[in-house]
Amino acid sequence: MPTAKKRRRTRTTTTRTAKKARRYVYGFGAGRTDGRAEMKALLGGKGANLAEMSRLGLPVPSGFTISTEVCTYYYDHQRRYPSELRGQVNEALKRIERAVGKRFGDPTHPLLVSVRSGARASMPGMMDTILNLGLNDRTVQGVITETGDARFAYDCYRRFVSMYGDVVLGLKPTHKDEEDPFEVALQEKKRARGVKLDTELDANALRELVDEFKALIKMRKGVTFPEDPHEQLWGAVGAVFGSWHNERAVIYRKLNDIPDAWGTAVNVQAMVFGNMGDDSGTGVAFTRDPSTGENVFYGEFLLNAQGEDVVAGIRTPLPIVQLQRTHAAIYQQLLKIRRALERHYREMMDIEFTIQQGVLYMLQCRVGKRTATAAVRTAIDMVKEKLISSKQALMRVEPERLNELLRPVFDPAQKGLAVKNGRLLTKGLNAGPGAATGRIAFHADDAEAMAAEGHRVILVRIETSPEDIRGMAAADGILTARGGMTSHAALVGRQMGKVCVVGCEALQIDYAKREVRIEGKSTVLRERDAISIDGFSGEVLQGEIPTKPSEVVQVIVDKSLAAKDAPTYRMYEQLMTWADDVRRLGIRANADLPEQCAQAVAFGAEGVGLTRTEHMFFGEGKIGPMREMILAETLEERRAALAKLLPVQRADFAGIFRVLRGRPVTVRLIDPPLHEFLPHDEAGQQQVADDLGVSVERVRARVAALHEFNPMLGFRGCRLGIVHPEITEMQVRAIFEAAVAVKRDGIPVKPEVMIPLVGHVKELRLQTDVVRRVAADVARETGVKIPYLVGTMIEVPRGALTADEIATVAEFFSFGTNDLTQTTLGVSRDDAARFLGPYVADFEIYPRDPFEAVDQGGVGQLMRIATERGRRTKRSLKIGICGEHGGEASSVRFCHEIDLDYVSCSPFRVPIARLAAAQAVLAR
Ligand code: PEP
Ligand code: MG
Repeated sequence: MPTAKKRRRTRTTTTRTAKKARRYVYGFGAGRTDGRAEMKALLGGKGANLAEMSRLGLPVPSGFTISTEVCTYYYDHQRRYPSELRGQVNEALKRIERAVGKRFGDPTHPLLVSVRSGARASMPGMMDTILNLGLNDRTVQGVITETGDARFAYDCYRRFVSMYGDVVLGLKPTHKDEEDPFEVALQEKKRARGVKLDTELDANALRELVDEFKALIKMRKGVTFPEDPHEQLWGAVGAVFGSWHNERAVIYRKLNDIPDAWGTAVNVQAMVFGNMGDDSGTGVAFTRDPSTGENVFYGEFLLNAQGEDVVAGIRTPLPIVQLQRTHAAIYQQLLKIRRALERHYREMMDIEFTIQQGVLYMLQCRVGKRTATAAVRTAIDMVKEKLISSKQALMRVEPERLNELLRPVFDPAQKGLAVKNGRLLTKGLNAGPGAATGRIAFHADDAEAMAAEGHRVILVRIETSPEDIRGMAAADGILTARGGMTSHAALVGRQMGKVCVVGCEALQIDYAKREVRIEGKSTVLRERDAISIDGFSGEVLQGEIPTKPSEVVQVIVDKSLAAKDAPTYRMYEQLMTWADDVRRLGIRANADLPEQCAQAVAFGAEGVGLTRTEHMFFGEGKIGPMREMILAETLEERRAALAKLLPVQRADFAGIFRVLRGRPVTVRLIDPPLHEFLPHDEAGQQQVADDLGVSVERVRARVAALHEFNPMLGFRGCRLGIVHPEITEMQVRAIFEAAVAVKRDGIPVKPEVMIPLVGHVKELRLQTDVVRRVAADVARETGVKIPYLVGTMIEVPRGALTADEIATVAEFFSFGTNDLTQTTLGVSRDDAARFLGPYVADFEIYPRDPFEAVDQGGVGQLMRIATERGRRTKRSLKIGICGEHGGEASSVRFCHEIDLDYVSCSPFRVPIARLAAAQAVLAR
């Protein structure tokens, strides 16, 4: 007799041996719900959220999701499906049939379905969709009987046949100059019937169109339009999977860092119709204002319209509040759904709905795209509303997007003048904030070409479509004549962070003539004419208008605006305070001048991580003595020139120390090769000769002598100071004399002297000896002792690999990841653009430009090694980064992970680094 324990074990074994069919199909809506919101990887965003809404009891039309695993399988197996799929789809179809009381292919009560893509990350409009699937010559009769509306039935049918022809059978034009054959036939039909609008065509005309469309398919593709709904369904499923690799989807994924391997899911769902009269409609809404973040229900709808009409921007929709007037109960139901979704997801959501003959259906919900201002505001408001914690709020804002809060706006005086002078042309909807001014391009590829020529571009279109994304990415601003706040241009523009004005109906754009007229005005603007758009107000103005710093910048940098008058600034400040409470990494800035240092401090920098002293030499009145020093032929001559430079450098350092008031300042000794300080052209060399009173031949000869084949690997960095210690002596004396002067004024100072391009400990020792000797000299001469550190940049691989030896001398390390990337990859930082672009975009050798985001697999390893070895020698070793990567979010996170003490970046990126550093802690 087996014991209970034994019995259980036996049962488990049996279950394990019975081969369980893998599940590829997941139901949702009335009937059965298998998925949930967390299953996005498997069901795509749309499928997972449809399931989640069903679980919440919201009215979701019955349907099912074919998982992303099938997409992967499909591409791994020469476009074939797993053997189990067909059976699972048939079963799921039966579930829909039971739920809605209709049958697929049934001539009296036909079930019609939509077939849509749905990837893990939202890719608006990039892949294909087919509606009204299941219609054929028999089932259309069923629709007529059920609705009593032959016109409606044939309208659905002709839309389906053309969509099927375009998407599944490949009749969709691939080039912008080609016309859609179905569109041509439709226009021809309207002309023949003497009508202007599609809605004026009667049932007969639409029935004729269905036949004509089918004939077109036969003629163009040599295939018969499939009448069998199952054949239609499998054709549509294959087309949606196929669209994962269409050109626009591939480009979109590249621009948005979406891996190809994710694949798309396919959602098949019972159709509901928003075009069944004035008690029907369709709409898109956000649970809060996606532009400002204000806690109001925000959206648009169209009565008597089918699904995609709102998003496509073909008709300009009405604000959602107007729904209250005509359909009060539905509006109240939507408000309830809005509250339920926000409470459940604790996020601002974007929804799509359809009303069919007075009944509301939810077709989609997802986390809403928003402007940076809206992102910050919703995050902060939701903390106040106790929906999320301040830590969650910090994770809600992408660091890079803070740029948008720091963005320029038009100079109000200049804009006022433009308006006064009659340059205000028209007004559209303010879909993406900011001020953009540039030249007009009417086509996406022209926008790309003009941007490549170095112009700022405003892409002006009747409406945009996914084909335009490259041009949208290249443009500074996007202006469209049609469409609402949720049109393609608005959604994609907002996501790209572009200034965007849409639905500007007064624009009469003539693509052929490449000109735009403004209704009611005589103005004609042509391609390449200047235009300005205000994405905050929706205004469109003729000509260029200078821009002005953002509100945040005005409060904290320019101090021209009081915080109490700057609501966006106050939100920004709140977010930064939370970030500072959480982050472990210190944040410093790279700044060479006192005003840059002041900016950096205003943005929250806790010190300066890099002052490039050579930049000071380019200031007014400074380059002369520098050139004199370079042209010197003897040590005495060089010392004489250096003596002229000493007070100049001293004043520069004193200015910086005064602004920093005791915050640490890392001053790097001279780094670039000396030829960079001399002109290479005849006229310039003559000028230097005249200025310094020497012969032009001497200047020319010096330039020739300094010539190097690989200056980046040549006589630069600490090599200069080792061979000419008098240069180091002058710079160090300037630093310490400045420090003493500032300290005597009662202002604390904390200098850190940094030696560049060290690869060998002996290099560092030689330079450190000079620093310590001169610092001691100054202390003795002045009687004032300044506490200081001496450290090095780690920016060549040998320096990183021998960090244990280098740390015996260095008191700190700072990763110079610009040079470290250059020397580790063997890629010139000045010449790489030509091949790094294709390396990233086409060949995917690196996921990002390694000069922008730390190449963690290569350069990152060296950083890890150097940090570990350096700290093994000296536990207290302070380590930071001062390459450009110090202000890039993924690199900041990496620096946190390898336990650096601080990151240093340009002043305007300091807020980004603060937030990224906080997120690095929270992500753990
Ligand atoms: C670096 O190499 O990363 C660095 C900060 O120095 P520079 O860019 O001046 O070479
Ligand atoms: Mg460097």
